[in-house]
Amino acid sequence: KIPRAEDVDLSVLARSTPGFSGADLANLVNEAALMAARNTQKFVSMRDFESSKDKVLMGAERRSLIITDEEKKITAFHEAGHALLAALVPHSDPLHKVTIIPRGMALGLTQQLPSEEKHNWSKEQLEARIAVCMGGRIAEETTFGQITTGAQNDIEQATEMARKMVCEWGMSNALGPLTYGKKEEAIFLGKEFNRHQDYSEATALKIDAEIKRIVTEQYERATRILTDNRASLVRVAEALLEYEVLDAPQLKQLMAGEPLAVKPAAPLAPAPPREARAGEDGRTSGILPPPVADPRPTS
Ligand code: ZN
Repeated sequence: KIPRAEDVDLSVLARSTPGFSGADLANLVNEAALMAARNTQKFVSMRDFESSKDKVLMGAERRSLIITDEEKKITAFHEAGHALLAALVPHSDPLHKVTIIPRGMALGLTQQLPSEEKHNWSKEQLEARIAVCMGGRIAEETTFGQITTGAQNDIEQATEMARKMVCEWGMSNALGPLTYGKKEEAIFLGKEFNRHQDYSEATALKIDAEIKRIVTEQYERATRILTDNRASLVRVAEALLEYEVLDAPQLKQLMAGEPLAVKPAAPLAPAPPREARAGEDGRTSGILPPPVADPRPTS
């Protein structure tokens, strides 16, 4: 019932909202309509749907969050690492979008878009996912020679996937096609809350070694890819610092070393001013320069 602009691609929206309930989708449409109304647009554009989806998925944009230039740079390289691996690792879901606009708890976001709704994952796809998870940490490490806590969630995800490959999906040759650890499901919470160890200590050691092997192999593969494509990594990170959001075609252009085609975008409501911040020593560090302007429409 909402007037849609011509650029709205429902199939792209559908693919990027797997697992959304009817109520979630209604919420997404409602948010998008509100954003369009705020900009006094007659139609709801793809851009409105995209930012509405990000808001529903990740929380509201936090443009007022004070980020130092150094943190912003680290985030840009971190997300560029994920994005590049999503594009380069075989069996990986194609990249949809990468951004360094902080949202909810995240300083940046790389979103992949499965080409179809997936209910089954192959071993190769899972390994590719672990490699993509590792990209953020590796990009930070190889660029700045130091690591931050920013990769905590990535590492958790990768470890959990490797654990399931070994213990639940029988994907480790060393452990064979067996289930290790019976889950005690809390029926009313619908969430796994305990794991019953039904194997020997010797097996536990083998499981740990296998999880570590899987994650380490993907870490090494990801490191090789990012080292071989160092120039692309730097170009993507620099473009992120300049434009904050990149889509798949733009990423391709950057990887090919072509000049970046910046698409005209619907005007956004002006971002709230960034307030001054008191430094740790109580000193105010002054007004930060305004956020990088979003690409403006050409007409
Ligand atoms: Zn990350």
